[in-house]
Amino acid sequence: MWIDTHCHLDAHEFADEQGVIAERAEQLGVSCIVIPAVERANFATVAALSQQQSTCRYALGIHPMYVPRALDEDLQALRDMLPTAMADPNFVAIGEIGLDFFLPQLCEEPMRSRQEYFYAEQLKIARDFGLPVLLHVRRSQDVILKYLRRIEVSGGIAHAFNGSFQQAETFVKLGFKLGFGGAMTFTRALQIRRMAAELPLEAIVLETDAPDISPAWLHPQRNSPEQLPQIGTVLAELRDMDIAEVARATTDNARAVMPRLAF
Ligand SMILES: [Zn+2]
Repeated sequence: MWIDTHCHLDAHEFADEQGVIAERAEQLGVSCIVIPAVERANFATVAALSQQQSTCRYALGIHPMYVPRALDEDLQALRDMLPTAMADPNFVAIGEIGLDFFLPQLCEEPMRSRQEYFYAEQLKIARDFGLPVLLHVRRSQDVILKYLRRIEVSGGIAHAFNGSFQQAETFVKLGFKLGFGGAMTFTRALQIRRMAAELPLEAIVLETDAPDISPAWLHPQRNSPEQLPQIGTVLAELRDMDIAEVARATTDNARAVMPRLAF
């Protein structure tokens, strides 16, 4: 049994195939797929998808790459939705939120400060409702961590983790798990593979980030949650471990960090 902790199954790349894909993934052992929202406009879509597919769960949040077109009032709308969302067992986290300092148009002012504002405000929402956060961290590890020290949330996942061992350790101390996926399937990804092999297993959760970050055997085709068991097999090989043990541990880790998954 596997959990895909980060999959944009609502993306247009999947058109009307979401149901078929979720079912095929389930047949391959993917018992749960977490779908983070990216902006207010898709909050209802991810919630509806989890309603239709028994294995799907969802998170609500404004993704840093969508901050340029987000409105201040979207933050209030998110906060206002939470009492209702908390009553929905399919709702599991705040996300996808974070900071992207890779894209030039996002890391220059005023957008850099605006990203930080949206990130901090959504951390406060997560803190106020006792929810974990799903983080997008690109060239922003240290600023992400700075805010996590100031605004204490109940942990979460640093998705598509690509930092240093020291940063990994800091995330873990703050109650976070690190998301590993397609990137570690490339033999040239030495640093990511070394971390996947050497970090404590309790720190690791698996994800596809579909339709993005296709594994080596699929690249550059569209990624899908059906790939998760094979990605998990790569993790088992890198750690020289039994596949079933990796599946069990990463599933337990995902449930530990998103307690609402465990109901
Ligand atoms: Zn994402």
